[in-house]
Amino acid sequence: MKLLRVLWVLCGLLVQAYALDREAFTFTNYNLDVRIEPEQQRLAARGKITLRNDSASPQKNLSLQISSTLNWRSIQLDGKPVQFVSQPYTSDIDHTGALSEAIVTLPRDVPPKATVELEIGYEGVIPLDVTRLTRIGVPAEVARHSDWDQIGKSLSAVRGIGYVAWYPVATESANLSEGNSVFETVARWKAREVGAQLRIKLSRSGEGTPEIPICNGEAGGLRTYEQMGRAYESVNECTFRPLGETVPLFVIGNYEGVERPSINISYIPEHKPDAEKYALAAQQVVPFVTEWFGTPQGRAEVKAEVIELSDALAAPYESGSMLLTPFNIDSKLAQFTAVHQLTHAAFFSPRPWIYEGLAHFAQALYRERESGRDGALDFMGLHRTAVADAEKAVAEARRQNPGASEALIDTGVEEFYRSKAMYVWWMLRDMIGESALKQAVAAYRSDADNAPAYLQHVIEAQAKRDLQWFFDDWVYRDRGLPDFRVASAYPRKMLANNYVVTVTVENRGGAGAEVPVTLKMEQGEVSKRLEVRAKSEAVIRIEAASTPLEIVVKDGSVPESDMSNNVYKIEIPEKSN
Ligand SMILES: [Zn+2]
Repeated sequence: MKLLRVLWVLCGLLVQAYALDREAFTFTNYNLDVRIEPEQQRLAARGKITLRNDSASPQKNLSLQISSTLNWRSIQLDGKPVQFVSQPYTSDIDHTGALSEAIVTLPRDVPPKATVELEIGYEGVIPLDVTRLTRIGVPAEVARHSDWDQIGKSLSAVRGIGYVAWYPVATESANLSEGNSVFETVARWKAREVGAQLRIKLSRSGEGTPEIPICNGEAGGLRTYEQMGRAYESVNECTFRPLGETVPLFVIGNYEGVERPSINISYIPEHKPDAEKYALAAQQVVPFVTEWFGTPQGRAEVKAEVIELSDALAAPYESGSMLLTPFNIDSKLAQFTAVHQLTHAAFFSPRPWIYEGLAHFAQALYRERESGRDGALDFMGLHRTAVADAEKAVAEARRQNPGASEALIDTGVEEFYRSKAMYVWWMLRDMIGESALKQAVAAYRSDADNAPAYLQHVIEAQAKRDLQWFFDDWVYRDRGLPDFRVASAYPRKMLANNYVVTVTVENRGGAGAEVPVTLKMEQGEVSKRLEVRAKSEAVIRIEAASTPLEIVVKDGSVPESDMSNNVYKIEIPEKSN
């Protein structure tokens, strides 16, 4: 009898688990008051959230998840407490590797497209926690420099979903040991939340020099502090309208500031020289960024901002034009980092592959200006293996699920929207020329980018060239990478020591590209560009002023799946000598 009851209870739980669709609701609105007490590492939140049922069926249950070191205090609907069960839920979207999940049972079904507004309260601590990394074998000493989020006595820095669920979210469980599961879960959440409106009032009270919370919401938010004797209360009203790709974060510390026309820097007082070095580096690259992307102060509401992290080994983190980083870098590297940030401040696109791709492309351009084309190609080469590996992973996923795709136009995977996108911009410049691409960048309007083909048309208008095939292969679809090889190279002797070499290049990959074909001769070399579509061949004739030796079909500007088959030794037939 007892066993039967246990089974019945288990079945009941299974039914409940089966009925719960954690990703049914989109959180369309947050209006939260978040009080932070660094001395106790505490956070307490009260406020309202609005959820819309975006699933196809009515929902009676919903899930609200926060970091496992926070606890649910109250959940109300129309001023009355609703029934909910709070349980730990294992998921690596949070640094603790778990969430405090409230499973709410609503008094009535929410039909598809209808919304529900809940009043919520939760609180707890946010200490440094590396559980999700150590349990997959990362040494704690290493893990703490990447999962550095915490509310700390001297400095608090806490990023949102993917690091710390300090505001409520709802996703299916993600596991760091299962391929891209964390990335994909966070990307799914972000895609649902693109249009969400957030107002988060951060407040901190304390004694001594006032510390005002910093966040990555819209600039110009209300930032105030009130002094009462030695005590003070500081407030920062952070708004995100809409949230877009942003992951909300906050930082609180005893910072001092440097303000320059192109950048603001918040630094830990004893590091003033480093802050000034970074500010100077940023000022030095302003002309370069302006030449390509317009002035970094051009977007009234956006200014590049650097917030120092106190851990000298902390992995830097960027959110839009805000960068959280330790100051452990030399002037050259500071310039290089500033190019990326100032590009964000100067140029906006709602599409990550354009927004991030251009910022990485800007770094490659800057490297080219500093140390020539080879220097830029070396820099891009650091990304190539990551792109090739990511393509392999997608190809693998496609074997299980034919719909799997990471097309640049809507991918949430960083290797694609950062590294692959950088290559795409570089290839576009090689194909259409620098001035046409600059004009296209200048003509781009983020508010007009409502259709996938918008950018293609902006570029074609400047390039006077049909780029449909290129966008099909690289942007609208994920067709992997090209794989070039020289199928044949026939030299024909002309006058004296002159030759014409007929080169056939085969592309065995799924994406076409324009690739440099280089003929190396006894004296010197000559390069020509050749367009080779996917799964096809193209022929080019190259004149040689001395004996031709070999053909090379790569220079590092086009990422390929196989880079080992790109050199071809030319045989000079006996009779032509
Ligand atoms: Zn960026």
